[in-house]
Amino acid sequence: MPKSPLALVSPPQTAADIVPPIYVTQPALPPLEEFIPYLREIWDNKILTNGGPFHQQLEKALCDYLGVKHLALFSNGTLGLVTALQALRITGEVITTPYSFVATAHSLLWNGIKPVFADVHPDTLNLDPAKIEAAITPHTTAIMPVHCYGHPCDVEAIQKIADNYNLRVIYDAAHAFGVQDQGGSVLRHGDLSVLSFHATKVFNTFEGGAIICPDAKTKQRIDHLKNFGFVDETTVVAPGINGKMSEINAAFGMLQLQHVDAALARRHSIDLAYREALQNVTGIRCLQDAGEQVANHAYFPILVEAEYPMSRDALYQKLKDSNIYARRYFYPLISEFPMYRGMASAHRENLPVASVAAQKVLCLPIYPALKPQDQQRVIDLVRGV
Ligand SMILES: *Cc1c(COP(=O)(O)O)cnc(C)c1O
Repeated sequence: MPKSPLALVSPPQTAADIVPPIYVTQPALPPLEEFIPYLREIWDNKILTNGGPFHQQLEKALCDYLGVKHLALFSNGTLGLVTALQALRITGEVITTPYSFVATAHSLLWNGIKPVFADVHPDTLNLDPAKIEAAITPHTTAIMPVHCYGHPCDVEAIQKIADNYNLRVIYDAAHAFGVQDQGGSVLRHGDLSVLSFHATKVFNTFEGGAIICPDAKTKQRIDHLKNFGFVDETTVVAPGINGKMSEINAAFGMLQLQHVDAALARRHSIDLAYREALQNVTGIRCLQDAGEQVANHAYFPILVEAEYPMSRDALYQKLKDSNIYARRYFYPLISEFPMYRGMASAHRENLPVASVAAQKVLCLPIYPALKPQDQQRVIDLVRGV
């Protein structure tokens, strides 16, 4: 690039040089001092993993907090998904959504299962039950829907299809921590639900996850599977994996639980402020809740429609130029990645709603520590002020 004489005088100043970056999320971390006593306890008892005291406490505390009966902790959500499929001995084809994080479909490939993508509903961006039914073949054994952005799927319609065709349902509930519908926790639906406690999620244990199980017997099978298949010192009953959560992560989860209500309340007010500020912006549509009684405001997706003065990608870039890192969740669709795109169900003609959503969606920054003035900067840029 030819140098302009001005460049010798003063380097061009962009917003990026002067304002601190704002990311789509920032992990919630309690004050460090509060974690020290937990660490001391681990150093004293020298139990680092294998279902130690913090692991047991956190399983119990999460069951109480979430309002579920049985739960098995995991070292991350992806191993939870892989193990959930193993636990139910799922084979053949599983119907799932292309509009999610890649781990959803990857968990199927890791089990030698063929993912069959079905389209999503335009209002919720969750699997459309009508499209699920149309995708069933004699090889279909299960459905893996995602409560995308923490908005509940059409759980009743999905269960009806599962009952009619004798299919299992495993929910990828990675986004759905704390979400409730009229009947209680959304995690009670289906045969199993899988949570993620990754750093970017509403409730984090650095890395972590859990499977919500309907009964003690299923939990026991899953507990064996996450510990190599061991049932006692000398008996191995299944080709299990190592999916155990460590004591450090479990202890951290116990501490996080004390702060999670405040974090959810902060998310709620940020969500309300965005909705209020963006409601009359031409070409910007805020995704609505899907009828949940208690929402978790895990994400704040907007859809940039044709009436907006610039494209979604131009807005994404404009924010980036101001040091604001919004994210295009979920773009590209899972079905666009090389290990999936050759499959018949991955064709865009099969997934028109998801394909359009992937072109329009932008997730704005939302996290408990987001400062009001920083949220205002995001709002002003989106409004074109
Ligand atoms: C985060 C996420 C996962 C994976 O969870 P990890 O704990 O990171 O392994 C799976 N599915 C969805 C939809 C996610 O957002």
